[in-house]
Amino acid sequence: MRISNLMAGALAVLALSAAPAAAQGRWRVAYPPAENPEYAALQQHFAEQDILSSMVGPLNEHFPVSRDVTVELAECGSEGAFYDAERPAVQLCYELLVNLAQSLMGGGEEGAEQVFAGAFAFILLHQVGHALVDQLDLPVTVPPEQAADQLTAVLTAFAPEELQTIAEGALVLGERGVDWENPGSGRAALGGPRMQNLLCLFYGIDPEGYAWMVDEGHLPAARAEGCTDEIETVKEEWVEYLTPHTQG
Ligand SMILES: [Zn+2]
Repeated sequence: MRISNLMAGALAVLALSAAPAAAQGRWRVAYPPAENPEYAALQQHFAEQDILSSMVGPLNEHFPVSRDVTVELAECGSEGAFYDAERPAVQLCYELLVNLAQSLMGGGEEGAEQVFAGAFAFILLHQVGHALVDQLDLPVTVPPEQAADQLTAVLTAFAPEELQTIAEGALVLGERGVDWENPGSGRAALGGPRMQNLLCLFYGIDPEGYAWMVDEGHLPAARAEGCTDEIETVKEEWVEYLTPHTQG
């Protein structure tokens, strides 16, 4: 999955200063055993491939944490993805991944695999965003969901080659009504103003490349006009939040 380049590239750019590494924790990946035979097979496969390390590893180089934060694929009993501040841990559930994979790739459509990878990466980055805000106690001024979406867009802005995939993944999560933090709610997590805010940030990164968002009616033309300024402002804010915590 090329998404790994995204984390490495984006974090290198964000890590603007060399702060002393006072942290003693690590970002860790885990693949706890699953009981359901279908998930157990996936668990074995993903653990062998160690698919999370390439995405999570770069966090250790740039964003030291004071205690261990686990990022894991797990059998959860629901189609969700969560950040648990108590453990602390980011959990992506096999139930969600399998459901998404079946819904997106079941029809054998061209490019479906990329869209799935984008949706997976979006959810992972969003949850890592929650973990970063909490663990580094970042002084964000927007609600938590918006903050986690913003960080995802900011990371993506530094890795334009992944942009298309992640933006399409986010759109599909909205269209399929996926609410990964409240599974079974029947609502789309990415809907209404939240989706508009997110799409605006993606669009603002590359208005020409993303003209289709306006053409296809995903983003109102009037809103799109201000999106270049919007992503620039948001990027500056996040660099400000993160710089005191980075190490080069
Ligand atoms: Zn969230």
